[in-house]
Amino acid sequence: MHITEEKGSKALPAEKQHPWHSMVPAEVMEELEVSPENGLSDEEVMARQEQYGRNVMTPKKQQSAFVRFMLQFHQPLIYILLAATVVTMFLEEYTDAIVIFAVVFVNAIIGYVQESKALEAIDALAKSMTAKAQVIRNGKKQDIDAQELVPGDIVVVQSGDKFPADVRLVKQRDLKVDESALTGESVAVEKNAEPVAPDDVLGDRLSMGFSSTMVTYGKGTGVVVATGDETEVGKIQQSISSAQDLETPLTIKIKEFSHLLLWVILGLSVVVFAVGMLRGEGIGETFMVAVALAVGAIPEGLPVAVTIMLALGVSKMAQRRAIIRKLVAVETLGSTNVICSDKTGTLTENQMTVQQIVAGSKAYFVKGLGYRPEGEILEDNQQADLGTNKALELCLKAGILCNDSSVKEKEGSWTIEGDPTEGAMVVAARKAGFKLEELEQKEPRKDTIPFESEYQYMATLHDAGDRSVIYLKGSVEAVLERSNKAMQPDGELIEVDREAIEKQVEELASEGLRVLACGMAEAPEGTTDITHDDTKSGLVFLGLQGMIDPPRQEAVEAVELCQKAGIDVKMITGDHAITASAIATQIGLTGRKENGKLVAITGRELQQIEDHDLEDVAEKTSVFARVSPDQKLRLVKALQARDKVVAMTGDGVNDGPALKQANIGIAMGITGTEVAKDAAEMVLTDDNFSSIEGAVEEGRSVFDNLTKFIVWTLPTNLGEGLIVLVAVIIGSQLPVQPVQILWVNMTTAILLGLTLAFEPKEPGIMDRPPRPSGEPILTRELIMRTLLVGVLLLIASFGLYYYEMEQGATTAQARTVATTTLVVLEAFYLFSCRSLVRPMREIGFFTNMWIYYGIAAMFLFQALFIYVPFMNTLFGSAPLDTMQVLRIFGAGVILLIIVTIEKYYRFKSNARVEKVAESAR
Ligand code: ADP
Ligand code: MG
Repeated sequence: MHITEEKGSKALPAEKQHPWHSMVPAEVMEELEVSPENGLSDEEVMARQEQYGRNVMTPKKQQSAFVRFMLQFHQPLIYILLAATVVTMFLEEYTDAIVIFAVVFVNAIIGYVQESKALEAIDALAKSMTAKAQVIRNGKKQDIDAQELVPGDIVVVQSGDKFPADVRLVKQRDLKVDESALTGESVAVEKNAEPVAPDDVLGDRLSMGFSSTMVTYGKGTGVVVATGDETEVGKIQQSISSAQDLETPLTIKIKEFSHLLLWVILGLSVVVFAVGMLRGEGIGETFMVAVALAVGAIPEGLPVAVTIMLALGVSKMAQRRAIIRKLVAVETLGSTNVICSDKTGTLTENQMTVQQIVAGSKAYFVKGLGYRPEGEILEDNQQADLGTNKALELCLKAGILCNDSSVKEKEGSWTIEGDPTEGAMVVAARKAGFKLEELEQKEPRKDTIPFESEYQYMATLHDAGDRSVIYLKGSVEAVLERSNKAMQPDGELIEVDREAIEKQVEELASEGLRVLACGMAEAPEGTTDITHDDTKSGLVFLGLQGMIDPPRQEAVEAVELCQKAGIDVKMITGDHAITASAIATQIGLTGRKENGKLVAITGRELQQIEDHDLEDVAEKTSVFARVSPDQKLRLVKALQARDKVVAMTGDGVNDGPALKQANIGIAMGITGTEVAKDAAEMVLTDDNFSSIEGAVEEGRSVFDNLTKFIVWTLPTNLGEGLIVLVAVIIGSQLPVQPVQILWVNMTTAILLGLTLAFEPKEPGIMDRPPRPSGEPILTRELIMRTLLVGVLLLIASFGLYYYEMEQGATTAQARTVATTTLVVLEAFYLFSCRSLVRPMREIGFFTNMWIYYGIAAMFLFQALFIYVPFMNTLFGSAPLDTMQVLRIFGAGVILLIIVTIEKYYRFKSNARVEKVAESAR
């Protein structure tokens, strides 16, 4: 079974003879042996899965492994080393040539392996979010994993979905599809189930829905004709999950830095070479000095280390339920300073319960919490009688009939299937004794206008025997706008009193209730379908249902953390302004307030504001209500115009542009559409605001650790460069040879430096303001520390070399001492770099055991370097005696003491500055 699954899909028999797009639907159905009403049976699905395999595309062939490996050499700094290899060969310094080349080679292997791992990890995460598909099987609608689809399956799509396979449409309603993934054409195509000419090109095959294209509007039903690699997208291997980009602003910055460094090093090398020649030293000797300078000053391990550390951040964020789709997000998260979040489901539980109903101007209270359909509906503390409360009855009936969700009991607890807002209305109606099956038998549904954020309502058409009825539910604005009559408790119709209703809404909303209105209309007998035009006016207003949706406790805490961390949290919702403001206040958002309540700006008000004035409004306001997706986009742009780094959540089809525009687009993993996920940099697997906060925390931590790595690694290169320069200036022979320098750089970067990636988060990581984007990684203080340590390395290494020579040690021994000094001092300095500001006793000695494993491994390697004859030949090293080793360790201790003192004073002066600033406040 497994083996056939892995093989992927096979062609349909005689596939060529099937121009599906030009056949009529009935023919297609017959060919694929399926009925559109019942779909396939389970047995049939099993059999076809066996035959066609899973609906997965073989990933697009990216650059071949060989090319990716070769690209590792395509770095300016590596060019220098390659050139050094060639020249040393000409100079007949064969061991040096081999060692230098070996280092380049090993570096490339490590880079390649790490890069592949990073890519794989990110890809695997992306794949772990499998797409769902809605199918009709065994006569029932069900959600399945899109990979389980087989030819012949009947799939249902609606706006926001991706076509999960190639589909011949059977039925559609206003279906518009963005086929840019396939054709590059970004204007949505209007689909149609009519056959088209056999030789029409893909873009003209209006009767087809192609895998990976996005439904931007309407809905449709179709039959799967091709899966996996057999789909049009599969055939051209243009898998949507296109190649991951490992480039981020930081890696680009580092690249620029290395280009600069390249010229500096080349320039210096030329100078060194010239000086040597002027002094009349041999070409070979002088050249080796120049090479030593070059290899010493180049931070070979840096680019790889940065990528590894960012990739590690990706997996840490995944543990906190934030899936990173683009590596750059890891970095940007650290400097995010505004988070614009949805309300429903992200900041709130999305656990809706109808608590109050106002119908026919009478108020009712609904008892019970959650989705258990038990509880009473009370009028003046008495159970309400539906017989004498006609408006209530119809309001509840509209709520349950105009509804695509249901509640179910599973192992004693009640859960919903579908949208919680709708689930709450189902529960309310069932509490009053309504039974959906009975209602649907009496008034079967003929057509539906699904809910869409822009229209803010949903309507259904029902056949009530001698007449047709339209039920409608949605935002109060949407329903009121369409109503001219309102129902009284006795069933009588009166002129609708908008002001009174708006007042009732305000009352409900100010308690934080989400308010939906219900309405109905009659349609001529035998009507079979409805459009937005049929519901434009003439509705009877039935009543309001107010539901609570409590704030998520974790979100309240996360919002507080964000605020402490200098991150503005803003709520952007489609809900009513008063509800939004009440919930935002409960959650603890801060911002402009009036009468103790947060000011909410509505989408309509936003429309009146000019782009330029919007910047100020966007910055100062924290609640935006009844916002449409295009206003979301404007808000992001306005905030960015104020140099904000904006994270923005979204779930709908139309959120795509805003998500793309935001610095971090965040899609909802559970309720989000495929379109939103595709546009996002990050996907929340639990839709929870606190996961955003978690990701920000991790992002900051990754950046901290990267900085620590850089602060740790640069002094080595500086020190080594200085050693060579000083040797040239004072006319000494080199204390460390090129191969020895390479040895130090390669081994310490991996064994010592990378352990900093596992450094736990700094305490108070969320108590400091976000890092201004564009701020240099190294502040003045850190540059000073780099200089200090670089000079200390020079003094220790050169000093001990000189001392050994004085003591009559061999050159090989003295050089071994100098090399080992660099290694040991780097190991000691590593402790200091575990935190850039805090002293070691505060960090805790055993909070990152990797440091110790790394150092142990490093010392083992260094022992091999010193004592193994083969290594002696290769690297020109020689065994050392105990005293020599002890002196090196002594130097290490001294370095650590000096650096600790430096940190202490800087920290103290920092603390003093902060204190002054605080008292000034
Ligand atoms: P949000 O998710 O930000 O709360 P939505 O765009 O989902 O906002 O909803 C906006 C408004 O549309 C809601 O306040 C409600 O009045 C109405 N609404 C939401 N869901 C439905 C639905 N399933 N059917 C009808 N109306 C709805
Ligand atoms: Mg919603």
